[in-house]
Amino acid sequence: MELLLKSLKIGVKEEKSEECYAIPDWETLELPKPVLRRLRVKPLSWFKKNFNWADKYFNEQRCENFDMVATYRPYHFNGTEFGLYIYARFFAALLINILETTGLSLGKAHAFALECVQSHGAFHYLVERYAERGTRSCFALGRTSALSHYPRYKKEVYAPMWGTQDCIEETLANVYLFQNHPEWDEEKRRYVLQLYARQRDGYGQAAELEPNALSAYYTRLEKSIGGQGTQTLEQWIRLQTPFRADRFPIYLVNDDLENSKFEEILEIIFPSCLEFEPQSEKKFNPLKLT
Ligand SMILES: [Zn+2]
Repeated sequence: MELLLKSLKIGVKEEKSEECYAIPDWETLELPKPVLRRLRVKPLSWFKKNFNWADKYFNEQRCENFDMVATYRPYHFNGTEFGLYIYARFFAALLINILETTGLSLGKAHAFALECVQSHGAFHYLVERYAERGTRSCFALGRTSALSHYPRYKKEVYAPMWGTQDCIEETLANVYLFQNHPEWDEEKRRYVLQLYARQRDGYGQAAELEPNALSAYYTRLEKSIGGQGTQTLEQWIRLQTPFRADRFPIYLVNDDLENSKFEEILEIIFPSCLEFEPQSEKKFNPLKLT
């Protein structure tokens, strides 16, 4: 089957060739009902056989964070190519792990996996927006304001702290899943918490964060970004929640899989992506979307 998606080659990792496909909306990633009906009768062992490499990414020893499944690329550094980049291979592995760990049906597990990566990415996007508030943005002209706090914060705070317990942005990005989805039942909450408990420092703290400690974490992150006028970071993020998932562009990434392997994944978990015609590129201006 020939891929009809419009591809965009991005040289993010030099040693890897990544092919990125612009996805018009989240609905394209959802499992259509006829496909769902067809797949629903398949046992879990069928999925595991088709994705026999999936255990590598989610197991007792190793558990990927949501940034590995879907990476948010900020507009400060990526211009119009900013957005959420979903790695098809890792998404499939997450889906299998949800099916193995919970009693969720395929349709519910698939939707839940999308909610997880949407919300985690959304938090990073909101932090970026907050860091720029009060400064004059030139995004529409293809560049961001020199006054934005974001580049300094990323370079001097986030990057050196990443992978340590002081990487508050990752702790809060994990916690944000619960803020963005208060309707989740105990099973979903439990699944995410046990995942966090096996993630690296910074991410893992979200498994133990007491609700009454949340504000203090927000204040710490806000201070490390730089004060932004009348609203606190916590207040501002609450105002943006629930997050409308159409606020940033979405890409599906093939990270160096043979095309046939990539298509195999798409046929099972993102079948609509194989069917639509290339679309004219959507131009996003994040500053007009709030
Ligand atoms: Zn993250």
